[in-house]
Amino acid sequence: MNILNEASPLPHDMRPLARIMATANQQQPVAPGEVWLVGAGPGDVELLTLKALRIIQLADVVVFDRLVSEDVMALVPPHTLQIDVGKSTRRHTMAQDEINQLLVSLAQSGHKVARIKGGDPFVFGRGGEELLHCQQHNVACHIVPGITAAMGCAAANGIPLTHRHVAHSVRFVAGHSAQGEPEPDWSALTATRQTLVFYMGIANCGRISKRLITHGLDPATKVAVISRGTQPDQRVIVGQLSQLKQMVVMHQIEAPALLIVGDVVNLYQQPNNYDIANLA
Ligand code: SAH
Repeated sequence: MNILNEASPLPHDMRPLARIMATANQQQPVAPGEVWLVGAGPGDVELLTLKALRIIQLADVVVFDRLVSEDVMALVPPHTLQIDVGKSTRRHTMAQDEINQLLVSLAQSGHKVARIKGGDPFVFGRGGEELLHCQQHNVACHIVPGITAAMGCAAANGIPLTHRHVAHSVRFVAGHSAQGEPEPDWSALTATRQTLVFYMGIANCGRISKRLITHGLDPATKVAVISRGTQPDQRVIVGQLSQLKQMVVMHQIEAPALLIVGDVVNLYQQPNNYDIANLA
């Protein structure tokens, strides 16, 4: 793309952007034998950081997840080797141990490795395990933060995760408990003036709403379900906590989707093209 083309509809001169990237390349080049854990954000390609874009374009091999959007993957140069290690809850294309090992072997054979993950690599992304594995094998590993799904999906839909007098804190919670892991501390999750964001919670949404209500949350608390947030086929459903399961089933919501629970959801304003559960 010639970003300086006269006919380009871009409103501004993009040369400063090119300068920033060139300087960054000099100051922090991507060297052979290194792994870069890159957060790709929630899907909207414009929510990618400049650093992520630079690393994606400089790597010679890209190891990517199911959550990385097609638009982001379209930025990978055609000559770059692409390895899909995509995962879903039911079907593991590649086990985490194998992914860790793959990253290390690619780096040890002299590749410039970009490990691209949806959202932020360290928010429910198992990026910490990949970092540790690299460190244990003396492979340099750099981290590129990304916009995590909670922040991207909430803000892009006009739901402030914190709001004066409404929510003073926000919690990111894993909606499915990994085998052998303890359940979340449900009483702590029902504290007042708090926003809860459940990742990976769709399959378990009935249980989540029951537990929250049993532990004291008002059944009428607002909840937003956002699937494929920030992407062209995003869906947003808003309703009450007590009706969460019904909302998800009725609207056939599938992963990846987030649950946002709390009074901040009252600030959501429905654009015409989104679904609103009319269950209240
Ligand atoms: N590292 C990622 C999270 C990985 S866990 C991040 O920081 O965002 C996977 C879960 O993230 C999904 O099950 C879903 O709950 C959530 N998620 C990721 N992308 C999403 C999106 N675009 N819209 C809604 N939820 C998303």
